[in-house]
Amino acid sequence: MSTLPLPQISTERCTGCERCVDICPQQALVQSDGKAMLIYPERCTYCTLCEDICPTQAIALPFLIVFAGHRPQ
Ligand code: SF4
Ligand code: SF4
Repeated sequence: MSTLPLPQISTERCTGCERCVDICPQQALVQSDGKAMLIYPERCTYCTLCEDICPTQAIALPFLIVFAGHRPQ
């Protein structure tokens, strides 16, 4: 199971325009029942193209925040 933060698609915001499906270079997205779905999450390279092209801001790519620990004083 991947530990990467994956694109989250809001089914409420998604209008099914398929722009994200068409632009994804990894073919990780498909349209199903008029909504975009990430059906191959293991293919996602986190390129952010889908988030950038979505006209309704239905796709959000959460940042992976890594805490390196406290710096020595
Ligand atoms: S680009 Fe946005 S609105 Fe269009 S199918 Fe993808 S998630 Fe839905
Ligand atoms: S971030 Fe890139 S690879 Fe991942 S689903 Fe979106 S367009 Fe595809």
